[in-house]
Amino acid sequence: MSTAPILSVRRLRKDFDLRRGLRRLVHGPEGYTVHAVDDVSFDVRRGETLGVIGESGCGKSTLGRTILRLHEPSGGEVRFDGVDLATLDAAGLKAMRRRMQIIFQDPYASLNPRRTVEQIVGRGLRLHAGAAAGEIRSRTEAILARVGLSTAHLRRYPHQFSGGQRQRIGIARALAVGPDFVVCDEPVSALDVSIQAQILALLGELKRELGLTYLFISHDLSVVAHVSDRVAVMYLGRIVEIGPARALLSRPAHPYTQALLAAVPRVAAAAGGETRPARLAGEIPSPLRPPPGCRFHTRCPQAMARCRSVVPQFVEVAAGHLAACHLHGEKAA
Ligand code: SF4
Repeated sequence: MSTAPILSVRRLRKDFDLRRGLRRLVHGPEGYTVHAVDDVSFDVRRGETLGVIGESGCGKSTLGRTILRLHEPSGGEVRFDGVDLATLDAAGLKAMRRRMQIIFQDPYASLNPRRTVEQIVGRGLRLHAGAAAGEIRSRTEAILARVGLSTAHLRRYPHQFSGGQRQRIGIARALAVGPDFVVCDEPVSALDVSIQAQILALLGELKRELGLTYLFISHDLSVVAHVSDRVAVMYLGRIVEIGPARALLSRPAHPYTQALLAAVPRVAAAAGGETRPARLAGEIPSPLRPPPGCRFHTRCPQAMARCRSVVPQFVEVAAGHLAACHLHGEKAA
């Protein structure tokens, strides 16, 4: 794996303004902006898998889509292979999208039910690679064979497949155009456990064979632990801890990561660590009005007075392992 970043994200923000939708229903002076991704910075090295973990609603899927410009960023910068995506015109962005693909969460909803497998997988080749009809057919057949489907499936429609087969079609669609970087957005969470293992194995094989780099988003810590070289933990729109997978899972530094691991002790045990009892109480607060200071302070069993007003900065707790928590800031001081 190269240490050079293929993707650099700096201070990325994505806000959603709800006023248009709510104007007729609700009247009030403020509180209509969802801060889905707020001041997020990290690198992804070429050839690595960076896992992104967090509860539903923490902004991890929005982060993946904003990196790909499926959502327009509200602020910050995304550089891919040294190119600032904000500087690209429509043609430049289209060319870059060939190199940056996504595998969606729901194989039932992400495939057009009115198109055949050949049309679904071949569409990207027509749009991005400008391939001729004969070439589209041969490349579609080749990628289908690689994901475990056959030419007999070319003329079938999505509803004629099982969930696992549909996700194989989604993977073929993403990889047909030859990307370098793939956002895997909860790619196995809609599948049965036995099928999950097959799809994860397939994604691992494809990564090694094709030299891919993954941003792997999941709410399932055991899945993230299985696939990731490094892990980023998100809470309410922000990354609160990031580091090498084994170090982060065996010695979590942030109380939120500790609470996530306490809920699945086998993950920490497999990484060689111990879990401390850290119960996660209450619901994740609304991203319409995130708490001031440390956003986790309303649920943190170790919260102090300053946590309610001062935003914690990242502290390096071990080589390449960063946590944004005042507990470590105090130790460093
Ligand atoms: Fe808990 Fe304070 Fe650390 Fe936030 S900064 S995780 S509230 S101890």
